[in-house]
Amino acid sequence: MSYTPTIGLEIHAELNTTSKMFCLCRNDAEEETPNLNICPICMAHPGTLPVINKEAVHKVLKVGAALGGRLADHTIFDRKNYFYPDIPKGFQISQYEHPLVSGGSLAGVEITRVHLEEDTARSSHLPAQAGEKGKSLVDFNRAGVALMELVTEPVIHDAETAGTFARELQLLLRYLNVGYANMEKGEMRVEANISVSKDSTFGTKVEVKNLNSFRSVERAIEHEVKRQIAVLESGGTITQETRGWDENKQATFSQRKKESSHDYRYFPEPDLPALVISEIPEFSLVALTDELPELPAARRERYKKLGLKDDDAMMFVRNTIFGDFFDAVVANDVSIAPSAANYLASDIAGKIEDGTMTEDWLSPSNAARFHKLITMAVSGALSSRGTKDTLALMVVHGSDPEDIAKDNGLIQESNESLITEMAQKIIENNSEVVSQYRSGKLSALQFLIGQGMKQSKGSANPGMLKEVFERLLK
Ligand code: ADP
Ligand code: ZN
Ligand code: MG
Repeated sequence: MSYTPTIGLEIHAELNTTSKMFCLCRNDAEEETPNLNICPICMAHPGTLPVINKEAVHKVLKVGAALGGRLADHTIFDRKNYFYPDIPKGFQISQYEHPLVSGGSLAGVEITRVHLEEDTARSSHLPAQAGEKGKSLVDFNRAGVALMELVTEPVIHDAETAGTFARELQLLLRYLNVGYANMEKGEMRVEANISVSKDSTFGTKVEVKNLNSFRSVERAIEHEVKRQIAVLESGGTITQETRGWDENKQATFSQRKKESSHDYRYFPEPDLPALVISEIPEFSLVALTDELPELPAARRERYKKLGLKDDDAMMFVRNTIFGDFFDAVVANDVSIAPSAANYLASDIAGKIEDGTMTEDWLSPSNAARFHKLITMAVSGALSSRGTKDTLALMVVHGSDPEDIAKDNGLIQESNESLITEMAQKIIENNSEVVSQYRSGKLSALQFLIGQGMKQSKGSANPGMLKEVFERLLK
C-alpha cells in the first residue's frame, strides 16, 4: 500500500502600501539604512495607538474578490502574543476569528482564508569573531509593514501543484498591484505543511519554513514526503514540528516543536475598533470586482483561444511587457495571432535575451510596424527568412517593414496567377523533364522549381511555386 502526501500552504506576502499597517512610517523594502523608517507606534512606545491602514485592507479585499472568496462584513484584529526580539510590542496584531476573506480558490486549490497582519523586524546574526562574542542585530524598518497571509486547505497532493499554486499567487499579486512578491527578497514567503497517510485520515503534519524560491518549495516537499515515509516504514512516528530547509544539503531539519494556536493567547486587540467593511462603499464586492484587471488565468485562456502555444501564452502572461505588446499587435486583427506570437516569442525574445535589442522596443509605434510585418509574412509577401531579415533591419533602423523589405529585395512574389503563368511557360519549355517527373522521377520537380526561382530572380514564393507545379502536372 502506498502513501498519499497531503500539503497545505501558508503564504505571507508584504503589501506594497505607501505606509505601514498601523502608523505613517514609510513602507520601503529597498531602504538600506537600518531603523530609519520607525516611529513610536511601530516601536511600541507606551501610550501610542495603532490606526488601521485603509489601503492595506483594500488590497487584501481585492485579492479576496479575485479569488472568488467571501468578504467579511466586519472584521476584528487580534493580538497574537509571543516574545521575540523582532516584535517590539511582544505581540503581533493579526486576525484570528474574523479574517477579511474566507474561501475562494486559485489554480484549482481551495483557499481557507486570507487575513491581514503586520510584519516583524529583520534580524541578522553575526558570527563570533576572535576574542568577541557573536552579535544579533535588529532592523525595525520592516516592523509593522502590512502583511497578508493566505492559507490553503490541505488539498494539494504533490510538490509540483504546490509550486504551481505559489507561482500563480505571485502572478496574481502582481497583476493586482498588491505586492511585489519577490520570494528571494522575502516579499513573499511560503510555508508548506506536509503529512503522509495510507488511508483517508490525515497523518501528523510538519511545517517547513525558510523556502526562498519556488524550486525550494518543490524540493522541500519532495524531500519531506520521502523522509516521513522512511520514518513510518522503519516503525517510527512523525512529530508535529517546524522544520527548516537547508539549501546546501537539500534536506529539511528540525527547528522546534510546533506551538499550537492556544499558546499564542489570541484576544481581540483592545486598541482598535471593529472595522465594519459593509459600511465602506468602495469595499463592496461590486466595487472591488469592478476594479479588477483581466486576471492571469483569463488572459491565458484568451491566448489559448487565439491559437497560441502554451509556452508562448505563459510567457506573455508572466511578462506583461511582451503580453501588452502582443495585445497591441493583434488588437484589430486576431487572425495573425499565432504567427505574431511565434515571431515575438522566438525572434524578439531571442534578440532581447542576447542583448541585440532591449524591451524598450516593445512600444505602441513598433506594435503597428510589427503588425504590418506579420501581415506580410502571413500573406506570403515575405518568406520566413525574409521576415526574420526584415525584422532584424526594423530593429536597427526603426522604419517601415514594407520599405525595408522592398529596399532590400526581400519581398516575395506571391501573386498566384503570375506564378501560374510563369510555371506554365517553364512546363512548355522543359518537356523532357516534365515527362521524367510524370514517369515517377519526383526529383525532377526540384529542377522546375529551380527554373522558376531563377526566372523570378529569387523572388518567387517557393512554397507557392511548388504547389502550382504539382497542380499543373497532375
Ligand atoms: P495549525 O492550527 O496547526 O496552524 P491549521 O489547521 O490552521 O493548523 O492549518 C495550517 C495549514 O496546514 C493549512 O494550510 C492546512 O491546509 C494545513 N494542514 C492542516 N492539516 C494538515 C495535514 N494533516 N497535512 C498537511 N497539511 C495540513
Ligand atoms: Zn512607525
Ligand atoms: Mg493555523
